[in-house]
Amino acid sequence: MFTRADQIATADASAPHVVLLGAGASIAAAPIDANGKHLPSMPELASIEPVSTLLADAGFGGGPPDFEAAYSKLRMSGEHDDVADQIDAEVRAYFADVALPRDVTIYDHLLLALRPKDLVATFNWDPLLSQAADRLRAAGISALPQVVYLHGNVELAACEAHDRRGKPSERCPDCGSDLQPVPLLYPVEEKDYEQNKFIADAWSALQSALGNAARVTVFGYSAPVSDRAAIELLREAWGTWEEREFEQFELIVRPGADHEKMRDRWDSFIHSHHYDVVDDYFDSMLARAPRRTVEVFIAQNLHAKFADENPVPRDRAFDETIAFYRELIAHEV
Ligand SMILES: [Zn+2]
Repeated sequence: MFTRADQIATADASAPHVVLLGAGASIAAAPIDANGKHLPSMPELASIEPVSTLLADAGFGGGPPDFEAAYSKLRMSGEHDDVADQIDAEVRAYFADVALPRDVTIYDHLLLALRPKDLVATFNWDPLLSQAADRLRAAGISALPQVVYLHGNVELAACEAHDRRGKPSERCPDCGSDLQPVPLLYPVEEKDYEQNKFIADAWSALQSALGNAARVTVFGYSAPVSDRAAIELLREAWGTWEEREFEQFELIVRPGADHEKMRDRWDSFIHSHHYDVVDDYFDSMLARAPRRTVEVFIAQNLHAKFADENPVPRDRAFDETIAFYRELIAHEV
C-alpha cells in the first residue's frame, strides 16, 4: 500500500515526467482570456482577421479553415513571401495580446504538479504558460519544472551574439541592446528545427528529458501528420515501444474526441496497455498524484503496490490552491 501520507512524504524519483503541450492545452487552460479573447485552435487561425483576408487575397483562402495547410502552401509557393511575412506579424500581434485569466487556470495547476526534474515542452505561441510561471514565482514558488518552447513564443527574446535570453522588454546585460524577439516557427511541411539556436536548444532539452522519462503526458496536441519533423525527433528520443516497457504514456484529449483514434496516432510510442486517455486534465495523473507522478508509477508498476490518490483541489482561490501544493513541496529536498 502506498498511502496518501507515503505519497506526500516520498519525493525520491529522479526520472522526469515530460509533458508535451499543443493548442488544445491553452484552450483548456483559458478558452477565453482575461480580455474576453477566444483562443483559436491551430486550424481556426486561418479564420482570424486579417489572416483570413491575407490568405484569400493571395489565392489560398476558401474551403474549411486549416491554417497549417494554407500557410504551408503559401510559404512553399515561393511567390508570396511578403504576404507570409505579414501573416507572421499578425499572428504574433494576436498572441502577444493574450492575457492569463485572474482565476486559477489549468496551467497554474500543471506547473505546480511538476518538479524541477520534470519538463514541459510546448508548441504554443501564446504567453499563458509563461504568465502562469511568472505569477507562481511572484507568489514564492520556485520549485517549478523546466519549460521549453518548441516553436518559439511571443514572450521570448534573445541576444544571439551573447546567448542571453529574456522577455521582449528586456536588454542584453552584456551589450545593452534590446533583446530581439525569437522567431515563431511555423507549421510548414519541411521544417528545420536546427536553423535557430533557441529552438534547437529547446528540442535538445526535450530529447534528453524524453530519453530518461518515466512518464509522458501529451496534452492537447494531436500530432499533425504535416509535422513529420517533430514526430521524427520525438520518436528518435523516445525510441520504440519495445524499448520502453516500463513507462507510461498518457493522452489528455479534447472532450468528446475519439479515444481509440487518438491513441492510434501515438501507436508507435505506446507499449501495449501502458497508456491512458482522458479528456479532462483533472482526471490525469498530474491532478491525481501531483508532484509524485513518478513515485506513484514506481510504487504501482515496479513494487505492485496499490496507491491512493491525492487529488488536487478544483475551483479554489489562488492562495488556497498554492497552499495545497506547498505541503508537497515541503517534503522535497
Ligand atoms: Zn548582447
